[in-house]
Amino acid sequence: MAYKGMDFYLADELFTKEEILIRDSVRQFVTDEILPIIQKHNREGTFPAHLVPGMGELGLLGASLKGYGCAGVSATAYGLMMVELERGDSGIRSFVSVQGALCMYPIHRFGSEEQKRQYLPKMARGETIGSFGLTEADFGSDPGGLRTRAEKTAGGYLLNGSKYWITNGSIADVSIIWAKLDGVIRGFLVDKEAKGFSAQDIEGKLSLRASVTSELLLEDVEVPETALLAGTEGLKSALSCLNQARYGVAWGAIGAAQAVFDEAVRYAKGRVQFGRPIAGFQLQQAKMAEMLTEITKAQLLCARLGRLKEAGKASPAMVSLAKRNNVSMALDAARTARDILGAVGIMDEYQTFRHMCNLESVKTYEGTHDIHTLILGQAITGLDAFE
Ligand SMILES: Cc1cc2nc3c(=O)[nH]c(=O)nc-3n(C[C@H](O)[C@H](O)[C@H](O)COP(=O)(O)OP(=O)(O)OC[C@H]3O[C@@H](n4cnc5c(N)ncnc54)[C@H](O)[C@@H]3O)c2cc1C
Repeated sequence: MAYKGMDFYLADELFTKEEILIRDSVRQFVTDEILPIIQKHNREGTFPAHLVPGMGELGLLGASLKGYGCAGVSATAYGLMMVELERGDSGIRSFVSVQGALCMYPIHRFGSEEQKRQYLPKMARGETIGSFGLTEADFGSDPGGLRTRAEKTAGGYLLNGSKYWITNGSIADVSIIWAKLDGVIRGFLVDKEAKGFSAQDIEGKLSLRASVTSELLLEDVEVPETALLAGTEGLKSALSCLNQARYGVAWGAIGAAQAVFDEAVRYAKGRVQFGRPIAGFQLQQAKMAEMLTEITKAQLLCARLGRLKEAGKASPAMVSLAKRNNVSMALDAARTARDILGAVGIMDEYQTFRHMCNLESVKTYEGTHDIHTLILGQAITGLDAFE
C-alpha cells in the first residue's frame, strides 16, 4: 500500500498542488529506492552512492536555488522534500543538505559567475559532490576560534590546517574550507586532487551510519586565486549557510518522527499481550497521542516557517526555534516508539532504532540543541550568553 504520511490537521491544504506533486515524487523515490536498501547500508556503514544520479534527476540537489540547472522550488516544497528524505534516513537527508545548503548555496551566494557556472550545474546533477569544512576537532560549537589558515601567495593561497566531522568529506570532489586569511574567516573551494589535501573517514560511528563523515587534512595546499569565494567575509558568511541547512533539518526531522510513529502504531495494533492488542491499552495510547500531537505541532510550525522564508521574513532565531523543537521532538518520538516496540525495538529489521541513533547526531550538528537555546535566549533578552 502506498505510504500516505500523517496529516492530522490537514496541513496539505496549506501547500500548493505543485508542492504536493514534488513531495509525492520524493515520497515515491524514498519508498522505491531508499527503504529497500537502507538497513544494509546502515548495518555496513556505507553510503548508497548509486542513489545520487537519481537524486539529481529528481531535482533534490540545491533544489531551492534559482538557475544553473537547479530546480528553483519554493522554500516550502524544499522543506517537504526534506521530510520525505528523512523518513527514509537522516543520513541520506544529510547528504542532500550538505550538497545543497552547505556547498551549492555558498557558491550560489558568494561565488563569482565563473565559479557558479563551473560547479552548480554538475552539482545539481550529482556529478560533482561537495562538502563543507567548518568544524575542527577543537572548535565545534565555537567555530570562530578555528585554526585553519590561508596565506596569500603569488599565484593564489596556501592552506594549512584540519577539519573534523565533515559530512561527505572523503567522497567530495570539492570541499568548502573555512580558513582565516589575515585573521578573517573566508571560504575556499578546494579540489580533492589538490596536492597536500587528504580525507580520512571517521570510524566507529553508531549514528548516521549511511552517511560519510570524515577528517580533512590540509598540508601546504596551494589553491589558485579563483578558489576564494570572494563574497565570504567573516564567520557570518559560514553561519548564513548553516541557517539554510538548519531550515532543512527542521523540516526533515518531521519525516523521521513520522516514520517511527507509523511503525509504532502498526506494531501496537498487531502485538497481542494479555489477550488483546497493546494498542488498546491506555498507557500505549497516551504515548501515541503525545507523538501525534507533537508531530502535528512541528508540521504546522514548519508550514508557517516556509511561508515566512519565502516572504524573506524568517529570521535565524525563527529557524533555530524550529530546528531545536523539531529535532528534540523527533528524538523523543523515536525513544517512545522504541519503547512501544519492546524487545524488537532494538533490532534493525525495524527502522525505529536506526532513526533514534541518527537523531542523536541531528541534535548535535547544525548547532547543538543547547546552542539554539542560547540563540533564543539572546533573541528574548538581547543578552548574549555565548559570545
Ligand atoms: C555526524 C556529524 C556530521 C557533521 N557534519 C559536519 C559538516 O559537514 N561540516 C562541519 O563543519 N561540521 C559538521 N559536524 C560538526 C558539528 O557541527 C559539531 O559536532 C557541532 O557544532 C558541535 O560541536 P562539538 O561536537 O565539538 O561539541 P561541543 O561544541 O564540544 O559541545 C559539547 C557540549 O557542550 C555544549 N556547549 C558548547 N558550548 C556551550 C555553551 N556556550 N553553553 C552551553 N553549552 C555549550 C554543547 O551544546 C554540547 O552539549 C558534524 C557532526 C556530526 C556528529
